[in-house]
Amino acid sequence: MSYVDEVYDRVVAQNPSQPEFHQAVKEVLATLRPVIEENEEEYRREALLERLTTPERVILFRVPWVDDKGQVQVNNGFRVQFNSAIGPYKGGLRFHPSVNLGIIKFLGFEQIFKNSLTGLPIGGGKGGSDFDPKGKSDREIMAFCQSFMTELYRHIGADTDVPAGDIGVGGREIGYLYGQYKRITKLYEGVLTGKGLTYGGSLARTEATGYGLIYFLEAMLKANGKDIAGTTIAVSGAGNVAIYAIQKAQQLGAKVVTCSDSTGWIYDPDGIDVALLQEVKEVHRARLTEYKEKRPNAEYHEGKGVWSVKCDIACPCATQNELNLEDAKMLHSNGCYCVAEGANMPTTLDATEYIQSQGMLFSPGKASNAGGVATSALEMSQNSERLSWTFEEVDSMLKRIMNDIFKNVDEAAKRYGMEGNYVAGANIAGFQKVADAMKAQGIV
Ligand code: NDP
Repeated sequence: MSYVDEVYDRVVAQNPSQPEFHQAVKEVLATLRPVIEENEEEYRREALLERLTTPERVILFRVPWVDDKGQVQVNNGFRVQFNSAIGPYKGGLRFHPSVNLGIIKFLGFEQIFKNSLTGLPIGGGKGGSDFDPKGKSDREIMAFCQSFMTELYRHIGADTDVPAGDIGVGGREIGYLYGQYKRITKLYEGVLTGKGLTYGGSLARTEATGYGLIYFLEAMLKANGKDIAGTTIAVSGAGNVAIYAIQKAQQLGAKVVTCSDSTGWIYDPDGIDVALLQEVKEVHRARLTEYKEKRPNAEYHEGKGVWSVKCDIACPCATQNELNLEDAKMLHSNGCYCVAEGANMPTTLDATEYIQSQGMLFSPGKASNAGGVATSALEMSQNSERLSWTFEEVDSMLKRIMNDIFKNVDEAAKRYGMEGNYVAGANIAGFQKVADAMKAQGIV
């Protein structure tokens, strides 16, 4: 059996009931095959892949808090410190009822390669809780965040582990988490990113993942003789990533006709009204039915369905495994020629294979959504030098980073005879730097 297959079997055996983690490892290892085979003996002797697929540290903790009725609630807290070969652990916190250890491990594992691709000195980590922020009062959110940080603070720090936001964790939650960290430790340091602008946040961080996705898409289209202007785009999600992807795509002359949340989706033939979407989601924290009420020409549908709409480009920006084989076939038959992932692993493995086999362009989230974490690293730099950069400075660095990521991914795929396979390119380019750093640092 090849080394890659042995390691995959080991991951499945040692991490039962963690299908998302298996899926992420399978995709990475499959595409690394040619790189591993070049150095198989050495990697095997050093157990490099076993170490790469085993987190350096997993922290599990209880998060007790009191709800508005005086009832004590208990949630599970997680932080997976996956790999610090190239820098302090960096990766978001997700608050969503679906969160479990397998999901946090898949996200942490992906983060290793994503962070490496940014070219910045950040290692891979991820955390979160099965807490559901939906329908909670501000006081309940604060109580939960304070309790979560009361345990987490002892494991993180500006030079050890720097969490950020993810699903269910935005500016409000980061603020409460930061306040509690400072209160306990007395340290005013860049221990979290995605902070508010009045206390160490970076301009353009809010927009960065969505904008970065579109900058990457632009570069990928250009390299394939296409232009984003004039295209029709289907986006899923209506959160941080989706909103700013829609905004940037429209600024660049595309028409985005869909968005979605966990209960339904919108088709707006005139193009999504971003200001209205922001009001509904960022201000009112309401359902998309409110968007429909104010846009009579738009359609609201319950459930899933974004990928049934005719479009040139699809950008899944909600959650993992939200675009399956059936969806991929529908997109292809409707003339869609490109899928650019904004979320983490939103496309199932069989759908990815189908998309690639049909000659459609496909960018994996670990490359095309890396703008968020890259800008988080820029926030860390600003915190360290106690300075703030302008929106234009950060945005232009983000754009350069996304263009560089595309170039490195494209070149890595070409180097191994897989031109146009950006999944392979991203995994290979991300892996090489981490593997070199791990080898240099000995058996740790
Ligand atoms: P948000 O919480 O801001 O938004 C998530 C959106 O997706 C919401 O519209 C939500 O609907 C929808 N959604 C979440 N879970 C499901 C589900 N199970 N089924 C259907 N819809 C769902 O999160 P982000 O925009 O920050 O994150 C979106 C994706 O992007 C995630 O995969 C995340 O890991 C990834 N990502 C985020 C980065 C960031 O900087 N924020 C960076 C890199 C990747 P509802 O409103 O109903 O909850």
